[in-house]
Amino acid sequence: TETTQEWLQNYVDDWVAFYRKHTADGEVASYIPILGEANPDHLGITIIGNDGMRVSSGDVGIPFTIQSISKVFSFIVACMDRGITYVLDRVDVEPTGEAFNSIMHLEMKQLKKPFNPLINAGAITVSSMLSGNTSDEKLMSIFDLMENMLGYRPALNVDVYESERDSSMRNRAIGYYLLETGFLESDLNITLETYFKQCSIEITVDDLARMGVVLANDGMDPESGEEIIPRQVARLAKALMLTCGMYDASGKFAAYVGIPAKSGVSGGIIALSPPRVRDEELPFINGCGIGVYGPALDDKGNSTAGIRLLRHIASQWDLSIF
Ligand code: GLN
Repeated sequence: TETTQEWLQNYVDDWVAFYRKHTADGEVASYIPILGEANPDHLGITIIGNDGMRVSSGDVGIPFTIQSISKVFSFIVACMDRGITYVLDRVDVEPTGEAFNSIMHLEMKQLKKPFNPLINAGAITVSSMLSGNTSDEKLMSIFDLMENMLGYRPALNVDVYESERDSSMRNRAIGYYLLETGFLESDLNITLETYFKQCSIEITVDDLARMGVVLANDGMDPESGEEIIPRQVARLAKALMLTCGMYDASGKFAAYVGIPAKSGVSGGIIALSPPRVRDEELPFINGCGIGVYGPALDDKGNSTAGIRLLRHIASQWDLSIF
C-alpha cells in the first residue's frame, strides 16, 4: 500500500509535470545579463511541513540567487537590530500598485517615506539601516539570520553580484533620489553595494521552504523549538508578503492563492501556510513552508509556472489563510 509520503510525492510530481508547460508562457529576466542564462524550462518545488514531512519535485537541485526575496530578510534583520518603530518611521507598509523598481511613485507629493520594504526604494532604505560600516559588515546580520534558519551559511554569487552592480542604472537613480530626500542612513555607495550583494545570495528551493516554515511558525524553528525571529517581527514580515510580496500582482495572489509569499526576478518564490487545526486528513494543514523555482517570468516578474503550481496546491490542500 502507498504511504502518505509516496502519495504526496506522486501527487506533486504529477502537478509539476503538468504545470511545466506554462514555463513557455514566460521569459527569463535579462535586464541583469547573467540572469538571462537561466534555463526557462526549469520548475521545481519543495514543501516542508511543521511535522517534518517534506516533498521535493522537479528541478530542485539548481542554485539560484535570492533576489527580491532577500528584502523580507533584510527587513526582519533591520527590525531585530533597530526595533520595529525605528524601521517603520522610515519605511511604510503600504502596497504601491506599481512595478518593484518604479521611480515614478517616489515623486508623488504625499510621499513621506518609501511605500514598503519589499519594493526597491523601501528595500534600499532598509539596507541603509543595517548596522556596519561596509557592505560586508552590513550583510553579516543577513547571513547570520539565514544561517540560523538553514543550518549552513549561504554564499554570495559573485558573478551575479557584478552583473547586477554593472547594470544598476535604475537602482542608482532610486538611490540618488533617496539620498536627496534624506531617507538613507548610510553612504549611498555602501548602501547600494549591500543591496546588490543581498540580492546575489545563492539559495535553493529547499532553503526557501526551510525559511518559509520558520515564518509559518511566527519565527520559531518547528524542529528545535528555538525562536529565531521575534513573533511580532515575523508577523509584520508576513503581512507585508501578503500585501506587497508579489509586486503589483499581490492582490490577485492574495485573492486566488491566499498565502503570504515573496517572489524574485531569478524565478524563486517563498511561500508559507501557518498551522491551523481543521481537517486532519489534509497534508500540511499543520503549517508548511514552500520554495518554488521557475525562472520564466510573467510581465509582472513572477514565475509563470510557479504561480500556477502554487495556486493549484494551495487550493487542493486548503492552505489559504482566509
Ligand atoms: N536585483 C533586483 C533588482 O533590484 C531584485 C529585484 C527583484 O527580484 N525583483 O533589480
